[in-house]
Amino acid sequence: MANVELRNVTKVYEGGVKAVDAANIAVSDKEFVVLVGPSGCGKSTTLRMIAGLEEITSGELLIDGKIMNDVAPKDRDIAMVFQNYALYPHMSVYENMAFGLKIRKYAKKEIDVRVHEAAGILDIEELLERKPKALSGGQRQRVAVGRAIVRKPKVFLFDEPLSNLDAKLRVQMRAEISSLHSRLQATMIYVTHDQVEAMTMGDRIVVMRDGLIQQIGTPLGLYNRPVNRFVAGFIGSPPMNIVTAKVVESGGQLMIDEGDFQIQLDGDMADTLRSHVDKDVLFGIRPEDLLYDETAAPQNNIKARVEVVEPLGAEIHLYVSTSQNQIIARVPPRHDFQVGEEVNLHADVTKLHVFDMESEAAVAQPSGVRA
Ligand code: ADP
Repeated sequence: MANVELRNVTKVYEGGVKAVDAANIAVSDKEFVVLVGPSGCGKSTTLRMIAGLEEITSGELLIDGKIMNDVAPKDRDIAMVFQNYALYPHMSVYENMAFGLKIRKYAKKEIDVRVHEAAGILDIEELLERKPKALSGGQRQRVAVGRAIVRKPKVFLFDEPLSNLDAKLRVQMRAEISSLHSRLQATMIYVTHDQVEAMTMGDRIVVMRDGLIQQIGTPLGLYNRPVNRFVAGFIGSPPMNIVTAKVVESGGQLMIDEGDFQIQLDGDMADTLRSHVDKDVLFGIRPEDLLYDETAAPQNNIKARVEVVEPLGAEIHLYVSTSQNQIIARVPPRHDFQVGEEVNLHADVTKLHVFDMESEAAVAQPSGVRA
């Protein structure tokens, strides 16, 4: 059992920087939770407070219900894998993995069993006698993870462990860490600035910005129902299109009016936005919810001029512009788009998002999708 709970945890560094502001996070036993957000949002500070490498200014950290604020890092039963996983260059892989256990005075035999067990899990048994300089980046990363595994900690913490690897290796290691999580059945907390890593690895994701938690949810929950403009723009790639528009009413029908295009609002969305008639709002639609369909009915189409065509093989990212906004669409590669061409992009009206102009909080979200 290992659950981790942060209760109103705040960190103010000397000099007054409030890096983390009243964070509340409850990580369940065996859960894989990812902390994600742009650089400087307080992710590493949060992780380091859990590890005990950084003092908690106020609030409480609990592991399995016990307050840990004043417990030394070595007594927290936590292992951390860093971005700069400095291995000892003069030691073999075996010695690197054994080192932590050795200084904790484990018996030689127990160390041997644990190192071989971890090496088996990570498929690095044939590398045990090598020195780090004779390893590839991915192999070194595996050894760094191995050093954590041999400790059999209650909780694994990862601080951007893949950011030094090239793109292809990152994708591979991402899958390896996910499968490691299912095999070890351990509680893991993982920090990254990469929303794709967060989406693909996390059971749940904590989105942070400027020291404040914005939203905690499952990957699909965040994707389908972001609570504000920031989360909407951060989760998903290419990002959600978000433009200023007005809610208007004509003959009882509510519409989003961008100036160049109008989108009809029905059902719950219309009911929710009735109080916003004649007000400016932020209108959001994801690139994948704009469908290229020349035969679609004339309403709910965004008529726009093609500016940039990015063919990716399986799909095309189409950058189009209205007189006021640039909009991105993800469309199938069925049409040979030309720069300057006028296209109709049909908005899937079941996938619209509307945010408040001032607070940027979600006012209306798609209903009937997974939260
Ligand atoms: P992230 O991991 O999301 O990039 P950090 O937790 O490293 O963010 O940093 C959060 C904020 O705290 C940043 O503004 C950063 O400059 C500041 N910060 C981090 N470490 C220190 C420190 N030791 N002293 C003062 N400020 C710090």
